[in-house]
Amino acid sequence: MSEFHEAIIIGGGPAGLTVGIYLMRAGIDAVLVEKMAVGGTPMNYEHVENYPGFPEGISSKELMRRMAEQARRFGLVMKEFIEVEDVACENDRFTVRAGNETFESLGVVVSTGTVSLKIGIPGEAEFVGRGVSYCATCDGAFFRNLDVAIIGGGDAAVQEGLSLANIARRVYVVHRRDALRAQKIIQDRAFKNEKMQFLWNKIPIAVEGKEQVESLLIEDTKTRERSRVKVDGVFVYVGARPDTDFLGDLVVRNETGFIVTNEDLATKTAGLYIAGDARRKSLRQIATAVGDGALAAVNLERYILEKR
Ligand code: NAP
Repeated sequence: MSEFHEAIIIGGGPAGLTVGIYLMRAGIDAVLVEKMAVGGTPMNYEHVENYPGFPEGISSKELMRRMAEQARRFGLVMKEFIEVEDVACENDRFTVRAGNETFESLGVVVSTGTVSLKIGIPGEAEFVGRGVSYCATCDGAFFRNLDVAIIGGGDAAVQEGLSLANIARRVYVVHRRDALRAQKIIQDRAFKNEKMQFLWNKIPIAVEGKEQVESLLIEDTKTRERSRVKVDGVFVYVGARPDTDFLGDLVVRNETGFIVTNEDLATKTAGLYIAGDARRKSLRQIATAVGDGALAAVNLERYILEKR
């Protein structure tokens, strides 16, 4: 048995929830499916201070709770812990298969964002849950007064490194270049923080330990000299890849896998729109995800009104 809705939103982060708010207010029958609990990537972060409307900043989780509450208030049904396996389109009808459920619709917005990249070094997979983590907000509390290493030099690495510095004794930032990629305001704070120590031009070679992480083996990119940093935890923030394998060839992807859309956020498949971090774009922030959500929803609404 399949369930019909005019629109299916796949992914419940800032982009997907915004699509939901806009479609419900436009009187479109939509359902949102999300493989985890709604909230998306910001649930892995601590604090947001560049999302307009919150002069003091806001807890990322609280912001997402409010977005979900707003969508719910307009009647959006959100089905959590349902992972989409396959999307097909035939004769302008979409079929979305997710576990035991099948949904049919006139249109789909995919707002599944990204998943964390792994580095792929020895010990990384082995020590997940025993010192290796991809989420400082989730696991940081285990490292009170201990030493940790953060791998990466982007916004996520430096911002989450700063959060960890509130808990840990020392935070080593292991970066493969001698300049950070993170926004300047975040960099400035990190450089001022006495608990943060920067290991420039270093790549991670192996995570080592017996039962738990005990050290990180690193290599200098210039001298090839190897050294060990004694740490109790290793937090990996080396970027992300789009979580959209289930779309198969319904879309065009760029060389790093992000989905190419036109300026209306439409794909090569009529009725299929992409909003948020999974899309090829130059800025991945909550504000731009929300903007994408609004745009995709309005364009899908027009499409659905033609097809009704
Ligand atoms: P990112 O911006 O792609 O940064 C990844 C970092 O990891 C880079 O510094 C990169 O080095 C390094 N790296 C990549 N592969 C590596 C490897 N194999 N070994 C060692 N280091 C490696 O990813 P992100 O920080 O996860 O952010 C993802 C997106 O979300 C970005 O668009 C970011 O702006 C956004 N975001 C924004 C905020 C915010 O605004 N507060 C917070 C979180 C994320 P190189 O610099 O040398 O390439």
